[in-house]
Amino acid sequence: MTIPTSDAVSAGLPSSIKRSWILPIALAILLIAISFHNYLLFHTLVEIFGVVVAALATVVVWQTYTFSRNHYLMYLGCGYIWIAALAIAHTVVYKGMAIYPDAGPNYPTQFWIANRYLEAFLLLSAPFFINRSFNRYAAISLFGLVAVTLFILIVLGKFPDAYIEGQGLTPFKVASEYVVNTLLFVAIVYLWKSRALIDTRILKLLTASIALTICAGFSFTFYVSVYGLSNLVGHIFALLSFWLIFEAIISTTLKEPVRVMSHNLLNEIEERKQVETELKYLATHDPLTGLYNRKVMEQRITGEILRAARYNHVLSVFMLDLDHFKRINDTYGHKVGDIVLCKIASILESSIRKTDYVARYGGEEFAVVLPETPLSEAEELAERLRSQIADQAISITGDQEINITASVGIATFPENAQTWDELLEAADKAMYSAKENGRNCVQTVNSAG
Ligand code: GH3
Ligand code: MG
Ligand code: MG
Repeated sequence: MTIPTSDAVSAGLPSSIKRSWILPIALAILLIAISFHNYLLFHTLVEIFGVVVAALATVVVWQTYTFSRNHYLMYLGCGYIWIAALAIAHTVVYKGMAIYPDAGPNYPTQFWIANRYLEAFLLLSAPFFINRSFNRYAAISLFGLVAVTLFILIVLGKFPDAYIEGQGLTPFKVASEYVVNTLLFVAIVYLWKSRALIDTRILKLLTASIALTICAGFSFTFYVSVYGLSNLVGHIFALLSFWLIFEAIISTTLKEPVRVMSHNLLNEIEERKQVETELKYLATHDPLTGLYNRKVMEQRITGEILRAARYNHVLSVFMLDLDHFKRINDTYGHKVGDIVLCKIASILESSIRKTDYVARYGGEEFAVVLPETPLSEAEELAERLRSQIADQAISITGDQEINITASVGIATFPENAQTWDELLEAADKAMYSAKENGRNCVQTVNSAG
């Protein structure tokens, strides 16, 4: 599974936005057709759409906040639920609704403009919370208090008139639309000033949404009848603006955390795999020389011996111990000793066949296992290795070079031993006999006597 990078996501953005326009435009066309049939039905459906989007936005950001930790969207959610509430009030008293038949066109226009102020305030203050956490219970309560206060002022007739039957919109209403539009424009500027802190997709969608809200506001300054053309255009702008809010808040909040979470999860799995590989390596290899360690050698040789016994094959082993290695440590220091050990390891590794294996058995002792190799062949290889080591000048500090020799003891299965322990003991014994014979030589079990 491939996870798109954030670059790939933003590169694919225009087409995804284009695709997401199909539904709202189809919806707008359908609603315009409905408006010619029944304007009240059109208005009610547009408002229901806005209410559903605003309420859904709040529920979604509230529920996903614990893992999205998107303070900005959470703040918008705290306000949008109350915008939905005032939109319901605006809808139920709209001219022609039978719920409050005597309400008249002033009430719905007042609820509308009150809601516009609330939305402008919400969008203007939201960028302040992009990187600040806040108490969401306090925020939602505060917005609730403002919405309820506006509601009570309108119901009690304390809110300025917005529409007078026979005359149309009041100067307060028209001026308010301009004030709100100015506030919304400032909100866009403020949002773009904080663009470094906000997701590009959310930034673009919200900017477009606010711009459409501004267009809706201009349309609403023109109408003389709440059933007129500019009222219709204004509601279509509002519908499209709510669609963008839907895209910004709902789809981003739901899709983005899942994308980010699955991305993080894959990274974590990858890291764990790497750690596992490293741990496996450390458990099976000698950290200094990179050769297999004693444990692996013993596990493998047990299997090799069983196979050799079953198929009547031979198998040889030799133990190789460096001569007077202690002197190198004492003369040149431990670091030089380490360099020598690594050099010997690489000589051994490069000289054996693919089917053979070598391990660092102890401090300066190496074991080499040669499957399907009779004693004579093992002796040849051991002799070659011994002379290769003896002839190899090992560079240490600067241009200084040193030489070292090795003593080798060989044992063969089944000739010298029946088990791994016995085989090793026999090879070890042969190696000690090589030491006694003056070092820098190869001894077999037989020659050791
Ligand atoms: P002999 O010819 O009898 O084998 O003499 P030797 O000095 O090689 O034998 P001895 O067993 O007395 O000394 C082995 C030395 O190897 C002792 C120890 O300090 C050194 N040694 C063991 N492991 C390491 C290592 O990882 N690095 C270094 N630098 N020295 C090591
Ligand atoms: Mg030694
Ligand atoms: Mg030793």
